[in-house]
Amino acid sequence: MSADRINLLRTKVFDKSKWMQLPRDVVIGHDVIEQIPAVCEDLALGDSVLIVSGGQTRDIAGTRVEALLAGSYDVATFAANDGNPLETIRKAEEAAAEAGFVIGVGGGRVIDTAKIASYNTDRHFISVPTAASHDGIASSRASVPTADGNVSLAAEPPIAVVADTAVIASAPHRLLASGCADIIANYTAILDWELSHRLRGEPLSEYALTLSRMTAEILFKNADLIKPHSEESAWLVTKALVSSGVAMSIAGSSRPGSGGEHKFSHALEKLAPGRGLHGEKCGIGAIITMYLHGGDWEGIRDSLKKIGAPTTPAAIGVDDETAVAALLAARTIRPERFTILDMGLTEESARDLVKMLYRE
Ligand SMILES: [Zn+2]
Repeated sequence: MSADRINLLRTKVFDKSKWMQLPRDVVIGHDVIEQIPAVCEDLALGDSVLIVSGGQTRDIAGTRVEALLAGSYDVATFAANDGNPLETIRKAEEAAAEAGFVIGVGGGRVIDTAKIASYNTDRHFISVPTAASHDGIASSRASVPTADGNVSLAAEPPIAVVADTAVIASAPHRLLASGCADIIANYTAILDWELSHRLRGEPLSEYALTLSRMTAEILFKNADLIKPHSEESAWLVTKALVSSGVAMSIAGSSRPGSGGEHKFSHALEKLAPGRGLHGEKCGIGAIITMYLHGGDWEGIRDSLKKIGAPTTPAAIGVDDETAVAALLAARTIRPERFTILDMGLTEESARDLVKMLYRE
């Protein structure tokens, strides 16, 4: 067959292409914060760095990172303090534009600020999480609270993740439990993705789906081992969060880790702002969406209990009526992302489900 003919066949039969951005260095373990200079050297990112940190997280780890790099790099710092998040991001961008690369040292808000600023200024980003509270530590999306609820923005996926288990284990256990709940919610996110694939023909990545499910399974199986302030627990959860982020990178969207339970969580954030952490709300939502899928909702609930994550709206200070309203409002959040909550759940059913499934 001639080369022309082969090319013709190629263009006719196969026209898929995909760009996956994955972290290059992932360093997890005891005291690995000390290895940040080696990571920066390995990646050869330039000679000036912006270190984004928060108030508390700067004391916990930010100043250590600054000291480690001060000898070899021009180090600038940026405090992602509370206040208007979009304004903070804009200021972080100004600072990032002056630096060769960006390191985010902190919890969810700091990491999100650093990765959005990196994306918008086209700088490489190194993620140094001080807590394992959600799977944003290794993903290419960031969620930013605004007056109209949370918006999901494009962000720079980290070129490296340096997760020090000693630092992460010293964070409040509630954060780790919330990170676990975010991972356990992968189970229902996947079921929603499969549902949308069957009903709507949405493309499905089996690799991403399998990795996401396997990650949830490993945590589910080891729920007994998740204990407060244990480095072994920090190790397990951080690896799971990174691998969940990788599943999203493979899929090219947050689909493998975000379904109806996330829409419920975002709806709750709108209706009862500031109540409960992101992962906590997703875990609570996953109990109901798993029930609607006909799956093992009690298994989800029991594993959340084991790791110390809340299993009812009341546990995060949300009343049943607000939970019902969030279940019904979930379909208005990202309507293009089809999930089991978009299939015509009635108010009466939502009320029954909340009463039946959210009992201690
Ligand atoms: Zn999440």
